[in-house]
Amino acid sequence: MKTIRGLRVPGLQDDVSPAGFRHLPVPERVVLPLEFSLGKVNPVVEPGQQIRAGEYVGRDENQMIPPVRASVSGVVTEITPWPSADGQKLLSVVIEANGDEEVVRLPLNGNGESKPESLLRRIAEAGIREVDAYAWPLAVRLAQPSLTPPILLPFAPALRKPVRYLIINGMDRQPGVSVRRNAILAEEKELLESVPLLKQITAAETTLITIYKDQKLPADFERKVSSLGAELLKCPRTYPLALKQGLIPYVTGEKLPGPNDDARSVGAVMLDVTTAQRIAAACKEGYPAVETSVEIIEPARGATTHVKVREGTLLEDLLAQLPDRPQNPAKTIIGGPFLGYAQYQFRIPLTQQTDSVVFQSKDELTHFVNAPCMNCGFCVRHCPMGLMPGDLSRLCEYGHFEAAEKAGLFHCIECGICSYVCPAQRPMVQLLRFGKSEMLAVQEAS
Ligand code: SF4
Ligand code: SF4
Repeated sequence: MKTIRGLRVPGLQDDVSPAGFRHLPVPERVVLPLEFSLGKVNPVVEPGQQIRAGEYVGRDENQMIPPVRASVSGVVTEITPWPSADGQKLLSVVIEANGDEEVVRLPLNGNGESKPESLLRRIAEAGIREVDAYAWPLAVRLAQPSLTPPILLPFAPALRKPVRYLIINGMDRQPGVSVRRNAILAEEKELLESVPLLKQITAAETTLITIYKDQKLPADFERKVSSLGAELLKCPRTYPLALKQGLIPYVTGEKLPGPNDDARSVGAVMLDVTTAQRIAAACKEGYPAVETSVEIIEPARGATTHVKVREGTLLEDLLAQLPDRPQNPAKTIIGGPFLGYAQYQFRIPLTQQTDSVVFQSKDELTHFVNAPCMNCGFCVRHCPMGLMPGDLSRLCEYGHFEAAEKAGLFHCIECGICSYVCPAQRPMVQLLRFGKSEMLAVQEAS
């Protein structure tokens, strides 16, 4: 195993109690984006159309991108660009709900469904999306080489490699967030059910469930995992070890070759425990992915609420359903304190890619300032990707985007450590995100 550079940050050390999830009622409307980092799907519904929860609202004609399914029953009112948590406007389907809680399940076709090909098809059809961004859709990444469609192999030779490691990650992505630790405690059965399914699909040589050292676990969990032919790997509480750029090298001893390369290029498949649980629900019970688990965090009051809501619930509607809603937050961040995006409004849909919303009080705000870098080198010492964040931030600040790209801008994983350690309080991640978006806009236009 390889160790990575990282930080022990408050918030990763504290463990969670088995709080479970609060299931919120079906909202009055949902907004379902059709565009994703992997590509977009085409709408297959029209305004005015009645739809039931679980039915398709968007599909990719090449069946590469997972379909989007209605998360509520009701009527489609609009197909329109809608603001997303990361500041984009994404084509989205808006559904006014009729309050019906039923979800149309995926068809189960008897014994044939336990074959790995059928399980993979079901995973692809369930519309499961992940919080972590990967280069390939879930069903493609999970497929052992003999199940990979031959048409993909010329573009992705890594998919020909047998899977050495299947990594089911139970560590939270960032300090202050406890979604995965809560999911292991609250939905142990679904997690354990997913292990044989995933082993069958990937044909992995070694299956690991990664957890933090001393993480609270269900009773007898290690023995149950071991009886399924898997192992618990206890990892240090260091940030950003739980991100793929940290965990893949830690487990395999090999670094990912490039910023966009998938773990399959080093013979590994990684997914998080909540994705594994959704796979079990789809394969065993036929549940499409129409819900998302979100943690509402209000550090000033020490308040954390884990909720399950229908995908596409607007943040303002979720808050209206919470009995103990955050009071006058000074800042709202969707996606967690280190990796998330600050919001200027609450009409943002919470999707399967959203795991947390943080409400900061005035006293907790970090005031970034337009100060010059003083070359202290703290950011260089702690950057887990071995970059020179100070230099990169200056290049982006003064519009030298190509030079920043050459200096490794796209290797930055936006972990936020350089912002956290910078004594000058420079807006490091904001500058690096700005540089990336400018370069992507230039590439798109050319
Ligand atoms: S945000 Fe990017 S540059 Fe800054 S520490 Fe993380 S990986 Fe390095
Ligand atoms: S931590 Fe801040 S001040 Fe220090 S080198 Fe990095 S950008 Fe400059």
